[in-house]
Amino acid sequence: MLNFELNDNQRMIRDMIRDFAIKEVEPVAAELDESMGFPEEAIKKLAQLGILGMTVPPEYGGQGMDALSYSIVVEELSRVCASTGITVAAAISLGIGPILLNGNEEQKQKWLPDLAAGKSMGAFGLTEPGAGSDAGGCRTTAIREGDEFVVNGTKQFITNAGHASVITITAKTDPSARRGHGISAIVVPTDTPGFKLGTKENKLGIRASETYELIYEDCRVPVANLLGEQDTGFQTFMKTLEGGRISIGAMALGIAQGALDKAAVYAQEREQFGKPIAGFQAIGNMLADMATEIEAARHLVYNAARLKDAGRPFGKEASMAKLYASEVASRAASKAIQIHGGYGYTKEYPVERYYRDAKLCEIGEGTSEVQRIVIARQVLKEYVL
Ligand SMILES: Cc1cc2nc3c(=O)[nH]c(=O)nc-3n(C[C@H](O)[C@H](O)[C@H](O)COP(=O)(O)OP(=O)(O)OC[C@H]3O[C@@H](n4cnc5c(N)ncnc54)[C@H](O)[C@@H]3O)c2cc1C
Repeated sequence: MLNFELNDNQRMIRDMIRDFAIKEVEPVAAELDESMGFPEEAIKKLAQLGILGMTVPPEYGGQGMDALSYSIVVEELSRVCASTGITVAAAISLGIGPILLNGNEEQKQKWLPDLAAGKSMGAFGLTEPGAGSDAGGCRTTAIREGDEFVVNGTKQFITNAGHASVITITAKTDPSARRGHGISAIVVPTDTPGFKLGTKENKLGIRASETYELIYEDCRVPVANLLGEQDTGFQTFMKTLEGGRISIGAMALGIAQGALDKAAVYAQEREQFGKPIAGFQAIGNMLADMATEIEAARHLVYNAARLKDAGRPFGKEASMAKLYASEVASRAASKAIQIHGGYGYTKEYPVERYYRDAKLCEIGEGTSEVQRIVIARQVLKEYVL
């Protein structure tokens, strides 16, 4: 595999996490998938290694590392267990992201050190039962009463909510404003009276990543928990998602690479017609297509991360990386099952888990259809007549 011109730190982090993933994450991945168990031990150890705070500046207790290193961490974890990959990605880019992006100094000092140390997690509550792709159709309200907001509403599909101490949510602070307007980003601690976890989803894939419904009933939050200006929270969330899309791209890339890892080994071990199936051109073609698409996906994901690190616009590239890598992951996992034949369809081999996990990448943080809308909008801006 190409080195993709990583610097010494990036190579070091990649090798460290690759080793950690093989020793600590892979051995329990199938069991956690089956039981829907949270990867407690791995997350605890990753927190001790400083990974949960890797993108947080040192003044708030983090490591101040770049987006490419972070993407590589998500990729390497997802290569053996996508549930662990997304748990880390959601904690960093969705839990910490909005506070880092739009918090004032006091808010950063208050929440970031614990989140960076992994003493607790943050989560991101945008989606609602009636507002998914149409996230601007938010119905949760936060009505100001003196120094407090009174929050009422329901959020849907929120990753890491069961382990979160704070969840940044979108809520309509101006209910009379039109769709996508009058929305604020508010940090709601999970010990606030009036907040409770709803149903935990029983999912097709990434089953060891927890996904919850959130219920807010007259939940009173200090106005000091508002991130940025009132009524501008939708923009904070959209900006957070731009970065989040790089990590879903990295997660998809890891799944695709993991599927190729397993398929390339199996193809050389399994014999039919008196020789390893790797010797049949049909199998070689599948491996070649997988490897080629993975290489292209890696370029897209690393390029988006590098643009972010350079402080340049990266929205279109993040969407391209997420869109392409997600579809590559689904194709690669499908081919990996095909190469394993009937055994690939059983839980004896991990490729069926990769296949189930890959599908989420085409849905979470904006479906493939939404990514195409975002990309097309940008492309058309480049061709203004
Ligand atoms: C496991 C998991 C974890 C998640 N974690 C989080 C989280 O931590 N925080 C959070 O806020 N959300 C989270 N989500 C929610 C996720 O972002 C949404 O599921 C996603 O944005 C799609 O919304 P929806 O499910 O309501 O689907 P819908 O928006 O109802 O879409 C249904 C279908 O219609 C298509 N569609 C919708 N609008 C258009 C359009 N304009 N043009 C073309 N096609 C369209 C979609 O692409 C899709 O194919 C998570 C979801 C899952 C499954």
